[in-house]
Amino acid sequence: MIRDSYIKTVIEPFKIKTVEPIKFTNEEDRKHILSEAGYNTFLIDAENVLIDLLTDSGTSAMSSKQWAGLLDGDESYAGSRSFFRMEAMVRKITGLTHIIPTHQGRAAEKILFSIIGGEGKVVPNNTHFDTTRANVEFSGALAVDCLNEDGKHPEVIADFKGNMDIAKLEATIQKYGADNIPAVLITVTNNSGGGQPVSMENIRQTRAVCDKYGLKLIMDSCRFAENAYFIKLREPGYADKTPLEIAQEMFSYADGSTMSAKKDGLVNIGGWLALNDDDLAVLCRNLLIVTEGFPTYGGLAGRDLEAIAQGLEEILDEDYLHYRIKSTEYLGRKLNEQGVPILMPPGGHAIYLDARRFLPEIPQEQFPAQSITCALYLDGGIRAVEIGSVMFGRKENGVFIAPDLELVRLAIPRRVYTQSHIDYVIEVVKHVHDRRNELKGLRLTYEAPMLRHFTARFEYL
Ligand SMILES: *Cc1c(COP(=O)(O)O)cnc(C)c1O
Repeated sequence: MIRDSYIKTVIEPFKIKTVEPIKFTNEEDRKHILSEAGYNTFLIDAENVLIDLLTDSGTSAMSSKQWAGLLDGDESYAGSRSFFRMEAMVRKITGLTHIIPTHQGRAAEKILFSIIGGEGKVVPNNTHFDTTRANVEFSGALAVDCLNEDGKHPEVIADFKGNMDIAKLEATIQKYGADNIPAVLITVTNNSGGGQPVSMENIRQTRAVCDKYGLKLIMDSCRFAENAYFIKLREPGYADKTPLEIAQEMFSYADGSTMSAKKDGLVNIGGWLALNDDDLAVLCRNLLIVTEGFPTYGGLAGRDLEAIAQGLEEILDEDYLHYRIKSTEYLGRKLNEQGVPILMPPGGHAIYLDARRFLPEIPQEQFPAQSITCALYLDGGIRAVEIGSVMFGRKENGVFIAPDLELVRLAIPRRVYTQSHIDYVIEVVKHVHDRRNELKGLRLTYEAPMLRHFTARFEYL
């Protein structure tokens, strides 16, 4: 690692071996494309996007060793060598006993909550990710978020805004009764809470509460490596530990892990459910065979397992994590310096524009975050995603109920874009912010009864 004090630039810790061209469009084209897509960026063909910041999920660039691993993958139905390599890696990092591969994170959630969830059960979490909440609720159980107070305020600067509110967790357990709580979840980093990290101390305190009431702790570990690096940077006592050592300690407090390898697995598909409980693991494996596949491939090809094993080696590399966290911070810092309101401090995998401060004149009912999302595409061909009134707003008896936060997420795919792409994004966001007085609110012309953000259509007011 080179960290000479005169060097200010954080360079990409890789060189490029394969390239994929991106298509340039002009503003006239984009006006037409956006109107055809009903002003919903989910409905724009990816081909017509210049810089795609819709999600960091499954969009990572794989390394030459991962691509080589694809060719080397063992496609045996049972007992594949690639599974044993993946299993060994996951076990080395998590220390957990039973490693059950799944095709992505929500498959692990579906299996777990089909068994431990159900009517009358309650699952606390710092913040449930949308698929996690959906799977808890689909089983009939209640999903309760216990996010600490700092995490609810976009302008508050704190080190660990993803933390569990320990008092609220305990109050939740007492309110519903420990017997009705099949597990406590903790999400690292906290995706729906702005990609903010959770401290080791908070994980330890959560463990202590679980011990007090005899509860299981399951880590939703999609961004465990990014979280480990934040702990190294920010928490006393961890500066000299490796990301692997920190990750191992994080997992040592957990009884299980659900994982989307599409995030910190550095792959395009894959995940796992890992558990210590032998009896629960048997039940989960049996359901896996019905829904995903045999326990040594779980809905994946052997080559995918090989790519995950290699991705897990690479994700904990300190030069990679330094670049990952610093490059996301770079985007956030530059926007903040130029007066663009963002959720502070920058998270691990994304920067969130705070639409309420960006467009204070447009009421939430007129979807200000969606309007910014449209302007980013029109001005620069950038695709972001609205996380605000379209995604979470609702009507009760005809009255609009606004969500707490009105955000535009710029998620950064891993190892995909260079600093000049990010500099371009900064210029476009700045330009949209400079002409924010010209932006208009939107009105829905179509909405589906559930998860409307994926298919909704709009027109300008
Ligand atoms: C992405 C994600 C999931 C679900 O994973 P998929 O692979 O998309 O099914 C669950 N929890 C968190 C925190 C996530 O970010």
